[in-house]
Amino acid sequence: MLDDQLKRPLRDLRISVTDRCNFRCQYCMPKEIFGPDYPFLSKKHLLTFEEIERLTRIFVNLGVQKVRITGGEPLLRRDIHKLVQMLHGIEGLHDIAISTNGVLLPKYADSLKKAGLHRVSVSLDSLDNQRFGQINGQGAKVNSVLAGIEAAEKAGLKVKINMVVQKGINEQDIVPMAKYFKETSHILRFIEYMDVGNVNGWNKSQVISKKEILDRLNKEFPLEPVAPNYPGEVASRFMYKGTTKEIGIISSVTDTFCSTCTRARLSAEGRLFTCLFATKGTDLRKPLRLGATDSEIQKVVKNVWERRTDRYSEERQKLLKNVPKDGRKKVEMSYIGG
Ligand code: SAM
Ligand code: SF4
Ligand code: SF4
Repeated sequence: MLDDQLKRPLRDLRISVTDRCNFRCQYCMPKEIFGPDYPFLSKKHLLTFEEIERLTRIFVNLGVQKVRITGGEPLLRRDIHKLVQMLHGIEGLHDIAISTNGVLLPKYADSLKKAGLHRVSVSLDSLDNQRFGQINGQGAKVNSVLAGIEAAEKAGLKVKINMVVQKGINEQDIVPMAKYFKETSHILRFIEYMDVGNVNGWNKSQVISKKEILDRLNKEFPLEPVAPNYPGEVASRFMYKGTTKEIGIISSVTDTFCSTCTRARLSAEGRLFTCLFATKGTDLRKPLRLGATDSEIQKVVKNVWERRTDRYSEERQKLLKNVPKDGRKKVEMSYIGG
């Protein structure tokens, strides 16, 4: 078993397959910055599916059991189902999931399921068309995401819904979202707004804490906590009292979970990051394209993981107080994937 400096094993790999997106969520890719002239990665810089498969095999050899395909918007990557199919063939990989904004699911859910995808997490921040259109920066309609969720369900995929909660932006949607998804078979999870990247101008005062979310929910429908499904599960789980219907909260700001963080991240151009809030990554594309053997690449990954000490969320207060003069350039969420 491969452990880092804080005795955390390598278990999960998040693979970003594109830095592009058909949304411009203001907390992730504000359109003032990600405009028509933004220098997105060009095709030759992206890892090919064959390169991703090869790296994934190496990660699985080192202990990875679960993979999440993300982005940007992963369903924009042409023939993404073919990547799923290739990953599905890797022995020892037990779980393949995709994070998506959902609008392309009506087109791709069936082929993804057939290719071996197990689960999708669909992001939806409001059921109000006007607020949702503003949040996604493109005026996209709630129904376009609900249609994606329905298509995924029909295709036989397990579906979870993720809602990022921001004070003054969509806090009024907490209870309506819970009410709506309580009547479906999907688990809704609220995500505390995080200071990922540099472009969203994050401020702690914009965060609605796990406690506040719980208080608001409990007023409408009493909840009871339930144990995690497995050690290191990111979301705290709750059940609506007297039912088996689950709801979750991901509280990276006010109730941190670094001590059980087993996630590595691979950017679309093949850089390995060991924390969502990292400033630097390790280039794996270069050795891949220079003809390194699997065992040479495995050694690089092993070294990176064994030296890992990341616990940004636990140190957030201290780090935010001591930002170096030249800034602390964290990677953007759209680059590294959520
Ligand atoms: N485009 C896909 C989507 O939206 O699901 C996948 C990539 S997106 C970066 C992954 C997740 O990160 C989404 O659920 C999104 O809402 C979340 N996210 C992005 N920026 C965030 C932030 N600053 N704080 C919390 N969650 C964020
Ligand atoms: Fe795109 Fe997802 Fe970021 Fe929204 S959160 S801009 S959908 S990558
Ligand atoms: Fe993992 Fe970094 Fe998030 Fe902590 S802050 S849980 S180490 S990704």
